[in-house]
Amino acid sequence: MDTHSFQRTRIILTSWYVGILAIILFAFSLVLYTGEQNNFARIIVRRDFSGQVPRIILPIEREEIQEQMTALRRAFLLNLIGVDGVILLFGGALSYFLSKKTLKPVQETFERQKIFLADVSHEIRTPLAAIQTASEVSLRSKNKTKEDYQKVIAQILSQSKRLTKMANDLLLLSQIESTQQVAFKKVSLSEILQDLVSTFKTTAEEKHITLTTAIEEKVFVRGDAYKLTQLFMIFLDNALKYTKDTGVITITATASPKPTVSITDTGIGMSAKDVKKIFERFYQVDPSRSRGGNGLGLAIAQEIVKVHKAKVSVKSLVDKGSTFTITFS
Ligand code: ADP
Repeated sequence: MDTHSFQRTRIILTSWYVGILAIILFAFSLVLYTGEQNNFARIIVRRDFSGQVPRIILPIEREEIQEQMTALRRAFLLNLIGVDGVILLFGGALSYFLSKKTLKPVQETFERQKIFLADVSHEIRTPLAAIQTASEVSLRSKNKTKEDYQKVIAQILSQSKRLTKMANDLLLLSQIESTQQVAFKKVSLSEILQDLVSTFKTTAEEKHITLTTAIEEKVFVRGDAYKLTQLFMIFLDNALKYTKDTGVITITATASPKPTVSITDTGIGMSAKDVKKIFERFYQVDPSRSRGGNGLGLAIAQEIVKVHKAKVSVKSLVDKGSTFTITFS
């Protein structure tokens, strides 16, 4: 939402608030005015004739009463309009202030969406440019061997895979945001983690990384089994990616006091400044070391953590390693 449309929406919202306030004030004043009508005569009679023996009011006195009643009515009406005016003015100012508060989250979401879209376009542009350049160069140059063409095709394939992964990750991100907690079931984190350890064992062995586990048998949470698998897969995948050969990755899971899972690695670690940013979409400490990553993994993890009302904390030291701890409620 740009400044102009934000201001316009703010004024429209204020008008609605003031309109509603005016209707309420008008209805309230009407009831008050009608109710007071009968009181006017009573006030005058009591003021001018009280203490006197009950008697018939003379026509001349009646005229006088009528005049006084009109004056009283006018004064009451003026007072009412004055008070209503002040309330409306004050209400208008308050509404203008409140409308800013009401629109703020909408504006923030809009701004975030705008930045996100710009980031997506920027990220998509790099592999697309690489595909385009590789294709153009290979079309232009003559005397190409079969190997040259194979190299270009391999480049195009790798960039297309990058784009596909990005599209899938973005889709996953938007799906997680709309996850319904009502569909949550009792899920065994112990089983999910044991399955993942079996899956990642081969990759770890290839890198000579030791996978150690301390997973309690009965660690349960309410959640979405598929998304929780994705969650731990992201942390494990990162631990493997950012740990040098012959490192150690430790996975622990405990049930009490709260179901908690932590993944510790002896990898490259991160500075405190980077730790603050790694959950942002597309953020990578060093893209050249990311090996096919796109900086969306931890953003997805963060969303999964959020929908499960869990918390994630990170402890990391450069060249020493990192620990990601997920605590469920
Ligand atoms: P990527 O696809 O680049 O891995 P992620 O969102 O999963 O994206 O992670 C964001 C960044 O956080 C990574 O690029 C990396 O720099 C850093 N990071 C994540 N996990 C670790 C880890 N276990 N050790 C060191 N750095 C990590």
